[in-house]
Amino acid sequence: MKSLRARLFISFTALLLAALLMFGVIVWLVAREAMTNDVDDFLRSKAMLLGRVVTPMRNRIEPWIEQELQVQERHFMLQVFAADGSMAGKSSNLAHAIPLSDEARRSEHPAGNAVIETLHADGRAYRVATHPRRDLWGDPVVLYAQALMPLDAVQARERRLLAWLVSGGVAMLAAGAVAAWSLSRQWLRSVSHLEEAARGLSTSELGKRRLFVPSDDAELSALANSFNHLLDRLEAAHTTQQRFTADASHELRTPLTVLRGEIEVALRKPRAAEEYREVLVSNKEEIERLSRLTENMLALAHVDVGDAITQRELVNVSELCSGVAARLQNLATERQITLHHEDTTTEPLSVNGDRIALERVMTNLVENAVRYSPGGENVTVRVSKSPPWIEIQVIDTGGGIAPEHLPHLFERFYRVDKARSRSHGGSGLGLSIVKALVEAHDGSVGVTSQIGHGSTFTVRLPAA
Ligand code: ADP
Repeated sequence: MKSLRARLFISFTALLLAALLMFGVIVWLVAREAMTNDVDDFLRSKAMLLGRVVTPMRNRIEPWIEQELQVQERHFMLQVFAADGSMAGKSSNLAHAIPLSDEARRSEHPAGNAVIETLHADGRAYRVATHPRRDLWGDPVVLYAQALMPLDAVQARERRLLAWLVSGGVAMLAAGAVAAWSLSRQWLRSVSHLEEAARGLSTSELGKRRLFVPSDDAELSALANSFNHLLDRLEAAHTTQQRFTADASHELRTPLTVLRGEIEVALRKPRAAEEYREVLVSNKEEIERLSRLTENMLALAHVDVGDAITQRELVNVSELCSGVAARLQNLATERQITLHHEDTTTEPLSVNGDRIALERVMTNLVENAVRYSPGGENVTVRVSKSPPWIEIQVIDTGGGIAPEHLPHLFERFYRVDKARSRSHGGSGLGLSIVKALVEAHDGSVGVTSQIGHGSTFTVRLPAA
């Protein structure tokens, strides 16, 4: 896996290399063309000059001509041919004469111009400018004046240019690569700071430390911000988890302590069978409380891992509610509570959900209403349609719940009156299970309550 810095560096350097190559090739082509044109112009002008200083009578290349035309200094050679193409004279720096080409002889160039060509002789290539001299416009050619230069001299100049281009390009590429490497480090410094800070965070510091948000970098500050939001959520989850574990162990410890105390007292001396029986009955109650608690914790654990709903089916909510009300009728009678079930419509109201989970929701709500209302009060389960929802209300005329408790009612292990609800066998998990199960069905649950008048719990589920 390549680092971001390496990737930035490689891309930048590759781009620079491509740009330099393109630039180099263009410069090379243009410069070579210009250099060739330069040589050709130079040779053409020298050939024409020579054509002017020699005559058919005096067509030797005398030393003064070489001097005048700067033959030695400018590294070129001269030749003169008679009108019939026979060799007449050559400059002293040309070892062997190079014959006049047919091309140059045939040429119909008017006076004042020259033919440019590349000729090979003695294993060397020459750039040659041939000026056919006429005395007057339209007259026949009286002689051929030639200026020539070995091509290796031209090629040496080209090679020098190429060497400059290559070494300049390599130097620029190296400088660019160094710049890219150090710039990328500078750009990514904030990222590595962020990474170091994130790596340095331990779980115990979740609540205390947050990452520094750089103000001069939009992307990085967005990254740091969302990381900090993630930390906030993690911290909240962590705190909830810790509180849950603490509450759960506390809830488990209480019945265990009671059990141990009762057994220890019972074992202190021999007792009558009736006394042992009483102890066992009390033990059984504590054990039932423990079973309920672990069962509730298990239910929450299932919801937490996302398998609250094991199987979805079409559930008729009115039937389900009347079933729950019928099952809890005994408990209600025992506590002198009048429990009814009311349907506001005759059409079947169905939801798509898990029957067992929905039964659990209704049982918890109705049981709470019955258990927390004093004798003589009423509990009504009302099912109605409020598109796109199906609304189920559990209404009691009991003592109500004080407003400060309402926002916490659905939290795990939250109880309004700790002592009282323990005597009812409650551990404060019932409503949190209700909320989790209803939300797993894409529904919602809420409560309104007034001290002295009673409470209404409302569950809304999407209608099937
Ligand atoms: P528990 O297992 O203690 O019943 P719940 O989560 O079901 O826990 O309920 C939380 C608290 O809300 C209870 O301790 C009780 O004080 C209060 N509560 C719930 N339902 C009602 C109600 N219908 N009327 C009055 N108080 C209620």
